[in-house]
Amino acid sequence: MKQQISGLRLGILGGGQLGRMLIPECIKLNLEISVLDPDIACPCSKLCDRFVCGSLLDFDTVYSFGKGLDVITIEIEHVNADALAQLEQEGVLVYPQPSVIKAVQDKGLQKQFYSEHDIPAAAFSLVKSKQELLNALPAFPFVQKMRTAGYDGKGVQVVRSAQDLDKAFDVPSVIEDAVDIDKELSVLVARNAAGEIKAFPIVELVYDPEANLVDYLVSPASVSPQVAARAKDIAIKVISTLNMVGLLAVELFLDKKGHLLVNEIAPRPHNSGHQSIEANITSQYLQHLRAICNLPLGDTRATSAAVMLNLLGEKGSQGPVVCDGIEAVMDMPRAYLHLYGKKTSRPFRKMGHITILADTLDEAMQSAKQLKKVFKIKGSESC
Ligand code: ADP
Repeated sequence: MKQQISGLRLGILGGGQLGRMLIPECIKLNLEISVLDPDIACPCSKLCDRFVCGSLLDFDTVYSFGKGLDVITIEIEHVNADALAQLEQEGVLVYPQPSVIKAVQDKGLQKQFYSEHDIPAAAFSLVKSKQELLNALPAFPFVQKMRTAGYDGKGVQVVRSAQDLDKAFDVPSVIEDAVDIDKELSVLVARNAAGEIKAFPIVELVYDPEANLVDYLVSPASVSPQVAARAKDIAIKVISTLNMVGLLAVELFLDKKGHLLVNEIAPRPHNSGHQSIEANITSQYLQHLRAICNLPLGDTRATSAAVMLNLLGEKGSQGPVVCDGIEAVMDMPRAYLHLYGKKTSRPFRKMGHITILADTLDEAMQSAKQLKKVFKIKGSESC
């Protein structure tokens, strides 16, 4: 069935920054937007037609939020997928599909999916508890990942030696070989219900080792055309095997021997696509919307070299937000500031980002480093 776009009732589970950046694209197509989030002061609460404050994990809350909507999507995968499955059965379009959300919520199921479908990923085993991990004791170093509820690097730790075992998580976990990482990469790929698939050019993520969060994103990634083509093929294989509708972020490692391995996937707009708002013909947000509304997908080509700087809350402060150095951003002609509207800052919280366009990546990176020194987001109290 062809959806009537103007006036379509779209529900977004989660009211964070990803939802906030999806909303302007919904407004352009005149969608009626509902958002569910447990925080009444979340980045989307004032920007939608209908805001419901409630738990994303509670069956009844998600079900009654979704009843009567035309299409439901997510901007975070920690949601009640059973309620979404019920809504799907009753005729609401839910994209990504609840079955995909369920598979992604559990890193153990994700890993099993890769091995069943011959998708390259680090070797792994599953343990139910710390005791089981100690009994099995893999060779150091290895990586322990909580199967569920981890995000933004929380719930992931590298175990380098016997001393680190004290802090091992006592929950069901994935135990993974530590990859000798050369580069962390990401390919965003979208698929609509008609089966059309388009991938974005590959980008590179540079992590802050202390926060375990993306510091800079570089687009396009500095990799060989062969690596870029292989990564794109892997991303397309993942989305077609999942039969997923919507946008999928495929995070990859390039190891020091040149192998590409899938680290994890996220079936929604992603931190590794923020730069596409200014630096690609179609942004990841519009592409997601096109995919879930079964519209033709947009041209994904990059129009400029770009570096995206994640703005994390400064260490040592918390509370109501204070921004320093905004003039420097405004003085830079091709720097685009996005503030997420979070009321309070805390160390390493994602507060915003700046995308810098330039003729070359080197130039964009120099400008990003310059801005990182002077533009700070912090809380008004020390901590
Ligand atoms: P999250 O879901 O919280 O983002 P990830 O699984 O992406 O967690 O892991 C966070 C970071 O930890 C990765 O970006 C990478 O730097 C590091 N990491 C994860 N898995 C491995 C691994 N197998 N080997 C080496 N480093 C890893």
